[in-house]
Order: sequence, then structure tokens, then C-alpha cells
Amino acid sequence: MNILVINCGSSSLKYQLINSESEDVLAKGLCERIGIDGRLVYQKAGCDKEFKEAAMPTHKQAIELVITALTNDKTGAIKELSEIDAVGHRLVHGGEKFASSVVITPEVIAAVEECCELAPLHNPANLIGVAACKEVMPDVPMVGVFDTAFHQTMPKKAYLYGLPYEYYEKYKVRRYGFHGTSHSFVSKRTAEYLGMDYNNSKIIVAHLGNGASISAVLNGKCIDTSMGLTPLEGLVMGTRSGDIDPAIMEFIAKKENLDIDGVMNVLNKKSGVQGLSRLSSDFRDLEAGMNDGNELAENAIEVFSYRVAKYIGAYTAALNGVDAIAFTAGIGENGPIVRKKVMEYLGYLGVAADDEKNSVHGDEAVISTPDSKVKVCVIPTNEELAIARETVALIR
Ligand code: AMP
Repeated sequence: MNILVINCGSSSLKYQLINSESEDVLAKGLCERIGIDGRLVYQKAGCDKEFKEAAMPTHKQAIELVITALTNDKTGAIKELSEIDAVGHRLVHGGEKFASSVVITPEVIAAVEECCELAPLHNPANLIGVAACKEVMPDVPMVGVFDTAFHQTMPKKAYLYGLPYEYYEKYKVRRYGFHGTSHSFVSKRTAEYLGMDYNNSKIIVAHLGNGASISAVLNGKCIDTSMGLTPLEGLVMGTRSGDIDPAIMEFIAKKENLDIDGVMNVLNKKSGVQGLSRLSSDFRDLEAGMNDGNELAENAIEVFSYRVAKYIGAYTAALNGVDAIAFTAGIGENGPIVRKKVMEYLGYLGVAADDEKNSVHGDEAVISTPDSKVKVCVIPTNEELAIARETVALIR
């Protein structure tokens, strides 16, 4: 089967066409500046990227351009639209309603709409993508795969905040967690890669990308994760603060004369390693800066790594031990410096780093020594493939 995987934002749309038998990506790309002017990036497997400026006033036109590119005589990956068997949509927030992926029906769309308040930047855009695909491919089955679903197995003690209980009852204020598709894919793959029984395992996944989160996975089920009601909580990220003393918000608002939107903008867009380093949110720049003696870049890397190690310690307690720790996403897959720093903090767990193996970039590898008490590995994430697999499983 050919599965079109769609990740739709307010002005952009990423897509991949995946063959579910071979799990090969047949073509992939991106529509940018939807509703502004429009640019299509398209790449057939084994070919160079193509760029095309093309008017796309709406997401429907963007999808039509994707289909035209996919079925193009010369560089298309398929001959006609009917070769797309299903569409898998990344949906960010499923609230408490969705603990797994679902076939998209009008009832599902209505239920996702109800979760828009919890993810106002993401859910409405995701739904626009669903509606656009429905218009262009009305007979093709569609599946929604939620970022929050994998974390729905968390117990109450992990998802409740120390706030008046009525905020949970009335407004559903609680920890939801994000990157669930990645945490699920990577934890499962870690067990498989290490020859462990997933249903009898204690795995900590560190998804360290521009957005970063950690999860504790017990016997294949998430029992805690670092992101919360929103993706702002937890680790220090590219531009997000992660955990802070909530009273800092009032303090900064008064000092800088900011309203609540202004403070949230600082915490989401001007903080994290970008704010700390005054240099960049990208670890390649921070590592180069550190090597050039930039003290703030070094501080940012230290703060980031220390926070990751603290969460791993906390989740080792939550799991009452840990069998394996997996690093994934941009920094997790490509950042030996951060991985090494984190592993050094975990000496008390009997973690021992293998420096040679830790030099890996983007490939699966065990990066702890053979006698390390806890196996530490790099497992590249693949959210699109995970969405394609979920889609196939549901429409079969
Ligand atoms: P992601 O959000 O998973 O795409 O991760 C993006 C982030 O990964 C970038 O902002 C960088 O901080 C980091 N990254 C990507 N490539 C490298 C690399 N070669 N070395 C260190 N960090 C990297």
C-alpha cells in the first residue's frame, strides 16, 4: 500500500509518500508560505530536490500541487491518484479523548475540534489539512495519529498538577505530553534492537531536538513524560525555557513591563539555549561557539545536558530502575558532546560511555561499553514511518 503522510501547519505542509510493504519513502517534500505566495519542494527517492514557486492561496491548492507533483509524467513517484491507498495525518492534541490513532470520521473531527483550545496553534491547522485532503481525495481513507496518544497511559499521580482540582475537572488542565509518536516508535525499536522483551522492560527515551522531551516507558506503556499541558514544560529546549519557577513570570512581567502574551512569547521563543547563549538555538553553532571559547555557548550546553540528566534520574526512580536509555531526534542522534555529558552524570547507575561508539551520527548504535549496567543507545526516530504503520494497521 502507498500511504501519504501529512503534517500540516498553518502556512506549511510536510508530506511523505511511503510504501508500507518495503517501508521505502517514494517521495517527500514541503509546501511553504501557503496563503502568502507559495513554494513547493518535491523530491522523488534517488533524485534531486525540485523547487517550484506556485500560488497556493489555500491548503486545498497546496495538496493539489502535491498530487500533481507525485503523479507527474517525468518525476512522479506514482502514475495516478488511485495509487494512494490512505492518508495518515499527524494530529497534535487528542486531549483525553484519544489514547490511540483513529480512522478519521466526522465524529472524530468534531472531537479534535474540541481539543483546539488545548493546542490553538496546532490543532486547527492539522484539521485544515484533513479538510483539504478530504476535498481532493474524498474516497481515500484517512487516519489521525496523535502526538499525545502514547502518553495517555500515565497514571493520575504523574499527570495531575498541584493545582486546585477543579481546574482539571472544568478545564482538563493536566499533563498530556507530546512527541508521543516518536517516544512510542523509539521505545519499541530500542527493545527490538537490544533484543529485550518490550512488554517486560524499563526504557527512558530522550527525544532531543529543537523541541525536547523525555519519557519513562514501563513494559511498553508510558508512565511519565516531561512536556505538560503544552510543549513548554520540562527540558531546556532550542528557544523554550522548559521548567522554571512560575513566579518568575510575574517578576519578569513587572520588570520588563510585559503582559501575559509578552511573557509567554519570551518563554516560548526567546529562552532555552538560544536565550542562554545569545548565539543560536542550533547545537552545531553552540558547539562551534564553545570550541572557540564562547562561555555563554558552553553554559547553554551545560544547562541543557544537566537538565536531561536530572530527568533521567527522576524517571529511573519512577520506573524503579532502568534497562535502557535511548537518545533520539536532531541532538540525540547527532550530538556526541551532549550524550557524553549526560552519560557522565549517570555513573551512579553504572552507565559507562564507549567514546568511540558515541561518535556515531544518525545511525542506530549502542554507545555504552559492554559492561555498562544500563544499555545506552542512539535510535533514530521516524515519525512519518510510525504514522504510515499506524495508518495501515487501522485501515486493513
Ligand atoms: P529536530 O528538531 O529533531 O529536527 O532537531 C533539530 C536540532 O538538532 C537542531 O536545531 C540542532 O540543534 C540539532 N542538530 C542537528 N544536526 C546536528 C549535528 N550534526 N550536531 C549537533 N546538533 C545537531
